[in-house]
Amino acid sequence: MKTNVLWSLAGSAGLLAAVALTGAAVAGEPLRVLVVTGGHPYDTNQFRAVFESMPGIEPRFVVQPDAQAWWAPERAKEWDVMVLYDMWQPITAEAKRNFRRCLEEGKGLVATHHSLANYQDWPLYAEIIGGRYHLDPWEEDGVPQPASTYKHDVDLEVQVLNPRHPVTRGMADFTIHDEAYGKLEIKPAAKPLLAVRHPESSPLVAWTRYWKGARVVTIQLGHDRQAYANESYRRLLLNAIRWVGRR
Ligand SMILES: [Zn+2]
Repeated sequence: MKTNVLWSLAGSAGLLAAVALTGAAVAGEPLRVLVVTGGHPYDTNQFRAVFESMPGIEPRFVVQPDAQAWWAPERAKEWDVMVLYDMWQPITAEAKRNFRRCLEEGKGLVATHHSLANYQDWPLYAEIIGGRYHLDPWEEDGVPQPASTYKHDVDLEVQVLNPRHPVTRGMADFTIHDEAYGKLEIKPAAKPLLAVRHPESSPLVAWTRYWKGARVVTIQLGHDRQAYANESYRRLLLNAIRWVGRR
């Protein structure tokens, strides 16, 4: 019966049917996404629903401190892409090695929102994700720098800087009601994707970078359910997951 329906569709609207069938075939196995949370409150059900509604995505939600165990070689075989939405500091030397190895082996990484403040004492983490939210004042080449800042409930006018990049392809500029981060450190390796002009926000809110074998996307946006409900935010997150997962 389903076959008959498909064939009749193909007869009446051949191109559309062909595109739909090809899309399903190319997608193949779902992309297995390890979603890491913990250390900061968030709208849990609404956040999970974002991933559960994504086509071709199989999310697994893990919470710190147990989440780091998923980076060990045996368990890392069970996922393809990691999305960080935690805000976490403790990390052992072994966990650091495992995290590095996952990326060296080509797994994808999407770091979002308060995960920009992770691992303040591990310089390589900021290097990998291309930036850092500094919880405390810091020094860059001996020059004192202020701590980063946050401001809830602002309307951010987001400008798409590179509409040809796979993560932002076809996206138009958009407005999002979200939390702004100010005075972020952004590493020179970060390739800008999205910009914001707002006195409380750093000028960049999304960027990409390659680190060893891995593709990395960092997205500052995504504080709560109001951001999760934003169509552009959801599209950005899905595109980022697919790009770092090489789909
Ligand atoms: Zn927040």
